[in-house]
Amino acid sequence: MRRRRRIVTTPCRPDTRLADRDSAVLAFCSNDYLGLAAEPAIADAIRRGSERWGSGSGASHLVSGHYAPHETLEQRLAAFTGMDDALYFSTGYMANIGVMPALVGRGDAIFADKLNHASLVDGALLSRAELIRYPHCDLQALAARLAASDAPRKLIVTDGVFSMDGDIAPLPELLALAEAHQAWLLVDDAHGFGVLGPQGRGCLAHFGLASPRLIYMGTLGKAAGVSGAFVAGQRDVIDWLLNKARSYIFTTGAPPMLAEGLLTALDLIGQGDERRTHLNALIARFKAGLKLKRWQLLPSDTPIQPLVIGDNHEALAISRALDSEGLWVPAIRPPTVPKGSARLRIVLSAAHSTAQVDRLVDTLTRLETLQA
Ligand SMILES: *Cc1c(COP(=O)(O)O)cnc(C)c1O
Repeated sequence: MRRRRRIVTTPCRPDTRLADRDSAVLAFCSNDYLGLAAEPAIADAIRRGSERWGSGSGASHLVSGHYAPHETLEQRLAAFTGMDDALYFSTGYMANIGVMPALVGRGDAIFADKLNHASLVDGALLSRAELIRYPHCDLQALAARLAASDAPRKLIVTDGVFSMDGDIAPLPELLALAEAHQAWLLVDDAHGFGVLGPQGRGCLAHFGLASPRLIYMGTLGKAAGVSGAFVAGQRDVIDWLLNKARSYIFTTGAPPMLAEGLLTALDLIGQGDERRTHLNALIARFKAGLKLKRWQLLPSDTPIQPLVIGDNHEALAISRALDSEGLWVPAIRPPTVPKGSARLRIVLSAAHSTAQVDRLVDTLTRLETLQA
């Protein structure tokens, strides 16, 4: 179970080199869904940003570390997601562990999908609110738990796109429940922002949802190709978070040059229909092409295509066999996923070519036959 890291010696891209390997591997593991992580226009914006702003912000945002590009970025993110206002955090993990304790506390209740990301679990624990978990996407179970609670403040939290399963949360129904029970709904869209919805505006836009009860969190290190995260919502909520979220207040502001890079990333996301069309064609091709007997591809229409193997050792063995074929697909084991559901987390990106996806399909098909 002990994990190790592999040393990457090329920028983030499908054709990857590793320090422990002589030949290149074809990678299906990053969350760089639009292929922006090594996009020259973003790197250029960061370079120009470093010339203008230097390297560091020097202080936390509330002291003297809030720069013009941070402010512009927040306004652009709010407009892009159709929200009043937005707050830019250094990472998605920090956003989640800051936002939840700012919204609820002792005596309140958090209702969380069992498959939520670890950062949402940690945010819930830090808040000291009662953590009530419901089975994955089980709306009836959630409704019953909401009805049974007399907590003064209720917060429903869910991944928008589940990070290890690739399925999309039933957000219209979750919002209806939030409204019926006077609860907040916090949606973590780490894997939907930039990918889902018109112009990549995310999972709420995908469903056309808006409500004062919604708090939207998106990350900027996945499809946006840089790093950081933001929380968007009503002006009052964002102002409250700015004053209360400890992981926002007690940390040095991210380098302003990164905000410059993110402004360019946001332009590219908005103009990225071609990338998204190509990505969706790859997803459809992969799903249609892969005909397996024993291993089960989970139902997902997003770039996250998990192939459940079950046994930890077998999942690792298949990941190693793929590696010897020149394909990098990591095995994900418990506790990241539930016991007995070890899997290959295959991730497709707009940076992949059709031929590269075909090579993955062919190799997986051959390996399954060999293992049988
Ligand atoms: C990656 C991820 C995060 C954390 O975001 P970082 O910016 O990487 O810290 C939070 N939630 C989900 C669902 C994620 O997949």
